[in-house]
Amino acid sequence: MKISNYKMKILCEVQVVNRNTQANRTPRAVKSTLAMGYKQSARDSNGNTKKELELVLFTPQVKAGSRYKVRENIHCVHTKFVLDGKVTIGFKQPAENLLIKCDPIQLKGFLQTLKLGMEGKDTMNLRLNIAAATAIPQKSQPQTRMTINRRSEYPIKGFPRTLKTLCITNIQLMKLSFEICTLRNLTTLDLCCNKLTKIPAELGRLSLNTLILSGNALGVYNDWNWLRGTKLTQSLCQLDLSANGLNYFPPPLVKYERLITLNLNHNDLRHLPFGIRRLQRLRSLHVSSNKLESLPAAIEDLHIDLLDVWGNSFRSFNGESAQEQLQRIAATQAHAPAALWLQAARSVSKYKLPYTAHTLPPILIDFLSEAPRCLCGKLCYALQPEELLQRATQPKFENIKSLTYSREHQIYADLIVCGRNCYSYTAQIAEHP
Ligand SMILES: [Zn+2]
Repeated sequence: MKISNYKMKILCEVQVVNRNTQANRTPRAVKSTLAMGYKQSARDSNGNTKKELELVLFTPQVKAGSRYKVRENIHCVHTKFVLDGKVTIGFKQPAENLLIKCDPIQLKGFLQTLKLGMEGKDTMNLRLNIAAATAIPQKSQPQTRMTINRRSEYPIKGFPRTLKTLCITNIQLMKLSFEICTLRNLTTLDLCCNKLTKIPAELGRLSLNTLILSGNALGVYNDWNWLRGTKLTQSLCQLDLSANGLNYFPPPLVKYERLITLNLNHNDLRHLPFGIRRLQRLRSLHVSSNKLESLPAAIEDLHIDLLDVWGNSFRSFNGESAQEQLQRIAATQAHAPAALWLQAARSVSKYKLPYTAHTLPPILIDFLSEAPRCLCGKLCYALQPEELLQRATQPKFENIKSLTYSREHQIYADLIVCGRNCYSYTAQIAEHP
């Protein structure tokens, strides 16, 4: 056995259990230091000093250490799982068991030293003055949050790789550094109130949960490539794009099926896409203070708790003809599949057949999830000759729990009707083209 393997101090996890009461003095294993050494006693009447072997357990709760005599005080030592890094040492007084978890090699060395000490052998390794022993300093916790509210706080040496939450707000930031797009542990990124006009596409590779971009200028270039990143698409739950000067709904957003909250307040949006019905987890949709003329009837297919459409420009068809609007819708929705596939998609929809991303081609899934649905239930892809765009006044939106809108305006909803016979499905359509 190499001498270097002998240990008198180990960093470990320890749970203390009282054998009499079976109560755990520590509810679970806590990071601890276990030290071993001799305590020099005062000279006895014969002028001899006695050396008393002691174990000391330092925990975050007992920083000064709990002391245990070793000589004639060991109740048991269970070493069956020492190769897994687990050992139990029981003392007679106090009647406590220490359940120790540690690196197996260190633990083995520590036990060998303990054995030597119990046999009364004075080894070099036990020269530790146990009275002065201290806990092994533990590495400080990795930094997981950073907030920057002033330019002077921006880190010159870069960001800790361990960050989970990063807030850089109100510092006139004009460019998002590539480095931030490589912080793989980030789940929350708040860049509110800066001067960003573009977001690097690499941001789409992060699995963010929350992204706040309000009060920037992303409507200047309308560069939405970063929204096409698969990881971001599949992870984002909260997105705030309010006050960015947007004049259209960013098309890739309809694929964000995990979104729960979407804030688009204070922009210049005139329409929301029919494809928004793909956002089945959406619970809060904020589109107040925009220029919305209507809402897509597809909103009713969602399960929205809170819809805020206060301060918009709802109106009946006006200026822009229904046919022009139909073309606009056709341009924003998923590409219509070829005729046979269209039949297939309609059958899946009509018979409510179950499907997953593995059983259907992506183009069909996009069509099934995003295409406008006629009141009769048929999937449309605007621009079929028989399809007509209708605008209904004051739709009921029965699935929406809380709706905020200015009372002086009516709300209008657009729907696509696939044929003349389908009018009978609604009594709400007020205007025919
Ligand atoms: Zn129809």
